[in-house]
Amino acid sequence: MTCFTYRNGQLYAEDVALQDVARAHGTPCYVYSRAALEANWRAFDQAFAGHDHLVCFAVKANSNLAVLNLLARLGSGFDVVSGGELERVLAAGGEARKVVFSGVGKREDEMQRALEVGILCFNVESEAELQRLNRVEGGMRRRAPVALRVNPDVDARTHPYISTGLSSSKFGIPIADAPRLYAEAKTMAHIEITGVDCHIGSQITEVGPFVDALNRVLDLVDELSKQGIVLRHIDTGGGLGIAYQGEQPPAPARYASALLELMQRRGQTLKLLIEPGRAIAGDAGALLTKVEYLKQTGARRFAVVDAAMNDLLRPALYDAYHAIQPVHQQRGATEVYEVVGPVCETSDFLGHERALYIAEGDLLAIMDAGAYGMSMASNYNTRARPAEVMVDGAKMHLVREREQISALFAAERLLL
Ligand SMILES: *Cc1c(COP(=O)(O)O)cnc(C)c1O
Repeated sequence: MTCFTYRNGQLYAEDVALQDVARAHGTPCYVYSRAALEANWRAFDQAFAGHDHLVCFAVKANSNLAVLNLLARLGSGFDVVSGGELERVLAAGGEARKVVFSGVGKREDEMQRALEVGILCFNVESEAELQRLNRVEGGMRRRAPVALRVNPDVDARTHPYISTGLSSSKFGIPIADAPRLYAEAKTMAHIEITGVDCHIGSQITEVGPFVDALNRVLDLVDELSKQGIVLRHIDTGGGLGIAYQGEQPPAPARYASALLELMQRRGQTLKLLIEPGRAIAGDAGALLTKVEYLKQTGARRFAVVDAAMNDLLRPALYDAYHAIQPVHQQRGATEVYEVVGPVCETSDFLGHERALYIAEGDLLAIMDAGAYGMSMASNYNTRARPAEVMVDGAKMHLVREREQISALFAAERLLL
């Protein structure tokens, strides 16, 4: 659901004009819509309403405390991939017992902290991790709840950098090895087997790969139950895509009904966990930026804006498309621009060949930037990261101050 709409030629987030956000908080600035975030979360929760389930928002998509807090208030669980994300969830009022911990490289101290606060489940990605978790747990006398993240070897048919379910990927355990590892886990004193997990990739725009993956996971669940290993949940990961450029991803309701139909057909009633990130936060945010300069070199026209790849990395990293819209629509002959930032890299672009009617000082909104936007931002070129604003009806809340330049090097020391 999008809450960014034009009224009399002015782009609004809910009932707040983006122009007013820029005036109050400057640019570049991330703007989120509370209504969109909540509607997107509820769409998943309601879609699975007929089945025991937990929506675990993937924190890496957007880890702002205000975002996490709003979702926690709705009852959300969380998927974290680091100790840092776990601390964010706790600081935002999320419940530890609704947290699943994913990732291929969990450190010992991260495991200890997660055990100490009592998370729902570790999604374990290798035999070595399983053994370490068994050892780490040893000192603390609580058994670690575990799901093995299996790799079902399905092609998510998405960008190779965000495709994780093929057997060549670094993620997960080959599904064929899983029965042996579950048997090993069962013998471990400090491990409690609770589930099975998979996550096949991101920005997936059809239900087929999800259904194929779940089907293979259900085969495994059956095999395990024959071995006397009974699970409590199946985690199908995240990955549902959004419409950046006219894609037509299934709505959460269709995604859910495809999974639930398969569960029913296979006579499976286990609790389902899902880990959507992008589909909850993506279209709920935009990056507001100002045109600094227009310039022409040879045949190309450039719009140099004050946001850059350090603020929004997706175009540079994945060649990803984000719609770029004028904050104030004006009538006039458009020109075709390369929309670029000030960073000293040729890959520092936000959009190629965009038809815009703009002048220096105009505001642009880079759409669908609520997921993997601020959470991937860096300080490259010693650029302060943007402010973040949450719009709620006619109100705007500054949910993260713009970074101070002095803070960027405050922790650095000269040689004595
Ligand atoms: C990134 C990730 C997600 C979220 O993916 P989206 O495409 O944003 O829904 C969920 N689970 C795991 C394990 C991930 O790595």
